[in-house]
Amino acid sequence: MSARKKTGLAVLGLIVLAMLALGGYEFREFRAPKECGFCRRPLQQKLRVVVEIGGQRREACCPQCAVSESRQEHKPVRLIAVRDYTTGHDLDPKQAWYVNHSRALACTHDAMHMDEMKHTDPLAFDRCSPGAFAFAKKDDAEAFIAQNGGQVLSMEQLLGEAHTQ
Ligand SMILES: [Zn+2]
Repeated sequence: MSARKKTGLAVLGLIVLAMLALGGYEFREFRAPKECGFCRRPLQQKLRVVVEIGGQRREACCPQCAVSESRQEHKPVRLIAVRDYTTGHDLDPKQAWYVNHSRALACTHDAMHMDEMKHTDPLAFDRCSPGAFAFAKKDDAEAFIAQNGGQVLSMEQLLGEAHTQ
């Protein structure tokens, strides 16, 4: 084998290694998503949820975003895990209390990049608005409502909204 061929092979080997490394990196990114699986907004530690829609498991920026998705796709949604908005701890969705229709915005809109479809009209439909917040304690949910308005919902009531308009 000529020296030139050897160098060529070495370069090729390096390229393959680099691609494998990148692939591994992307795989890890996929395993721990940083953005919502539906609307691509950044996930927030206190609001992120794990849901299953049509048998596919994804992480979403807030429960409301998942409910909107289920409504648009006409597929049932199942909450797998939610976070307590007070502590940021994981919470069994069945045990949680949800606050919907409050004045608080679940997702921060201004500080982030929006794609063309989303940034045209500030009054246009927003899939995450009004946001839904999850709480471990009903007291916390009620304290939140005293500050921001809204209504307390059980998981069934929150998901029940997925089937009505
Ligand atoms: Zn989202």
